[in-house]
Amino acid sequence: HAIYGVHRWGRGLVEVMDSGEIGLVNPLAPGAKPVSLPGVMTALSERGIQTPVLLRITQFLEYGLTRVTGSFAEAIERAGYKGSYRGVFPIKVNQQEQVVRRLVEYGAPMGYGLEAGSKPELVIALGQPLARNALIVCNGTKDEEFVRLATLSRRAGFNTYIVLESLNEVEIAIRVAKELGIDPLLGVRIKLTNQIGGAWAASSGDRSAFGLNSEQLVTAVEKLKAAGLLHCLTLQHSHLGSQIPDVNDVRRAATEACRYFTELLAEGVPLTHLDLGGGLGIDYTGEARATESSVNYSVAEYSSSIVETVKYAMDEAGAPHPTLVTESGRAVVALSAALIFDVLETTRYDVESAPEPEPGDHHLVSDLAGIARYLEPRRLQECINDANFYRTELRAMFRRGVIGLREVARGERIYLWLMSRIHDLAEAPGGPTEILDQLDTTADILHCNFSLFQSLPDVWAIDQLHPLVPLQRLNEAPDRRAILADITCDSDGKIDRFILDGGTASTLPVHSVAEGERYHFGTFFVGAYQETLGDLHNLFGDTNVVTISLRDDGGFDLVEELEGDTISEVLSYVEYTPRDISDAFRKRVDAAISEGGIDAKEGRELIEAFRNSMNGYTYFE
Ligand code: PLP
Repeated sequence: HAIYGVHRWGRGLVEVMDSGEIGLVNPLAPGAKPVSLPGVMTALSERGIQTPVLLRITQFLEYGLTRVTGSFAEAIERAGYKGSYRGVFPIKVNQQEQVVRRLVEYGAPMGYGLEAGSKPELVIALGQPLARNALIVCNGTKDEEFVRLATLSRRAGFNTYIVLESLNEVEIAIRVAKELGIDPLLGVRIKLTNQIGGAWAASSGDRSAFGLNSEQLVTAVEKLKAAGLLHCLTLQHSHLGSQIPDVNDVRRAATEACRYFTELLAEGVPLTHLDLGGGLGIDYTGEARATESSVNYSVAEYSSSIVETVKYAMDEAGAPHPTLVTESGRAVVALSAALIFDVLETTRYDVESAPEPEPGDHHLVSDLAGIARYLEPRRLQECINDANFYRTELRAMFRRGVIGLREVARGERIYLWLMSRIHDLAEAPGGPTEILDQLDTTADILHCNFSLFQSLPDVWAIDQLHPLVPLQRLNEAPDRRAILADITCDSDGKIDRFILDGGTASTLPVHSVAEGERYHFGTFFVGAYQETLGDLHNLFGDTNVVTISLRDDGGFDLVEELEGDTISEVLSYVEYTPRDISDAFRKRVDAAISEGGIDAKEGRELIEAFRNSMNGYTYFE
């Protein structure tokens, strides 16, 4: 099982148990027994909860949050930093009520707040029992209504910061403050010039969409001064983009942010809070390298880099240490959820026994079969080249009508048999493993009960890598390689890049799945961004969502269960009225009965089947 790299990316949360099953480990209770994930799935199935299931683990969520707050507290202590840390969770990273509610609860003792990037998110934030000292930071483009609600919320005791992202917002904030007679808490978003690496590079630098450049910043300060509101501007914000791969980008950005901060202080702006946005990444692959799906730093290193950089810059400028704010989303929630789905059926592309050409077959069929005579480890690339050439020619001849269906089918079979043999020889000890990438044509396709578009949209849209492993039989050597296909009718609905120990691969080692066997896969660390970005492609709706709490004795408690969408529900999302659809179907059945095509009993069965579908899960049941 070492090939799956669980020991690298699992980070003590996910491990392989002696039983060969994936276990979940409570990171908050040292010495706790792992909880068998296949065991959880069996227990859920006994309660009638079907796959696909999005599983939330309460301790993983709490750990995600306390890891960030704890690291900042330690870094502050170690560096002798005089300010405090006041994190906020960006609601956009996971807006689900169960997640936000728990984060607010876990974060209350640390004065943890929320970041809102839109009016609906501000409304969510204002509806939470936040601690008195927690912040609400409003980013994003704001209209007058947004600014008014944020300003008014001060009266209810909320510490709502309006982060000014443009000169237009400066005007709005001034107008609203005057009209209401309330001093708002104002922040200003700075557009840093440093550009980060990774998938979100465009969120940083000159051409990023948000924030004020140096010239606009000066204008904003002047406008606030003229309006008598400069004393309200106490927070400076910047955000570089998500999943920053290299910790030195964090240091460079913090250094640049501090330059603006101390310059603004010198201009008489009474800044007290320095907000450095999100970007704290997750090491999805476990490689600890600066790549798109990995990062070259730990949470502790991230926080100490920030604390030390800011301390140094403030001390140098003779300025007091500000309250540090970060808006970590991914790092807080990504770990907390896993998507579990199972295999529906397998399509195999390899051929075990050598097929023979038949008398009368075109000579290209025998030429193809003849490759077997020089199939040896030194000549495998040559064999691949020849086989590809002959197969292409045979296909062209079939299209032109030169050879028939059975002849081309024999050629295809011989080709697949050759590829399987080449694969075996390449994988044998000392074999040329570098050619394995060319042999994906023989990998199985496992058709699995999930929608990539609904549950793993970043895998589809931006080639995000998530750890993905079979949940069982990990003490048996996998004997097959596969790619996974979802159940949408879309050829994009597949996973063909996997994290393995020591890198990535285009196929996943799996076990032969017997007829009727439940073979589950888990995709881990999907708690950030995936749920709301997911869409209704082919009308596959929300999956069942189950929240569990890990017990120290290897058991678990089912904390909360949310049923996935029914067909009737997804139909209403696309503006159908389920009742009208049912009535139309019933009329059609009535007509068939009156025409004598079916009898009343058959009609009843039809209507029953239709009703069951309407009220059922959108996935395979
Ligand atoms: N803050 C702002 C302003 C953002 O736009 C984002 C997302 O990109 C975040 C915070 C969260 O970033 P992350 O999930 O990388 O922590």
